[in-house]
Amino acid sequence: MAVLDYIFPKRCLSCGSVGAYFCARCRPGVRHILPTEAICPVCGRPAIDGKTHPRCRSRYSLDGLTSFFRYDGIVKKAVTSLKYRGVFDLAAAFIALISSGYSGLPGISGRDDVVLVPIPLHTHRQRTRGFNQAEILGSTLAQRLHIKMHTGILRRIADTPPQVSMQERSARFINLRRAFTCESDGLERYNSIILLDDVYTTGATMRSAGHTLKRAGARFVWAVTMAR
Ligand SMILES: [Zn+2]
Ligand SMILES: [Zn+2]
Repeated sequence: MAVLDYIFPKRCLSCGSVGAYFCARCRPGVRHILPTEAICPVCGRPAIDGKTHPRCRSRYSLDGLTSFFRYDGIVKKAVTSLKYRGVFDLAAAFIALISSGYSGLPGISGRDDVVLVPIPLHTHRQRTRGFNQAEILGSTLAQRLHIKMHTGILRRIADTPPQVSMQERSARFINLRRAFTCESDGLERYNSIILLDDVYTTGATMRSAGHTLKRAGARFVWAVTMAR
């Protein structure tokens, strides 16, 4: 046990018991999203393995979406804690919940032409918060998948408010179109980009980031989120 664990003991995010962020009693409450429950990132309807429907494809659309957990209960608490505290060991515990036999990201592990790109925060927000939770999750997930992470490819130029209601979905899509720019330097080295964010709500942020990357020449962009 590390010294810090004595001073700030880990507590279960759900029941508060000391020892782990996801205690053995609460862990079964985590709801995994099965590959058969995946959705298309363009229309939001069911899609096998999260692959964008052929009819939903367009020149700059995302190629697919993988979300690991349902956004409720202890998972919701984990996302919130990470957003405000940015703790690396919480990110590691969260990533460790992804089952080892998970098949939602087939054929990615260990490939050096695949790169993980965390959704960036606007510099203002990153400065006030001090960290980017998607980047913290990304470094752990990239390690687990044996792929590289690159934080310099995508830059956020518009400071958009947090995701809101579904009714605003179409309006937000337009607003977010120019939310990112791409530093295409080095982009051609990679065949596939894994875009990572903590939560998928309307998907507007992911679609916008995907659009920017594809317009800059990315061949394959797959969105990944911890929760949905
Ligand atoms: Zn618990
Ligand atoms: Zn679709």
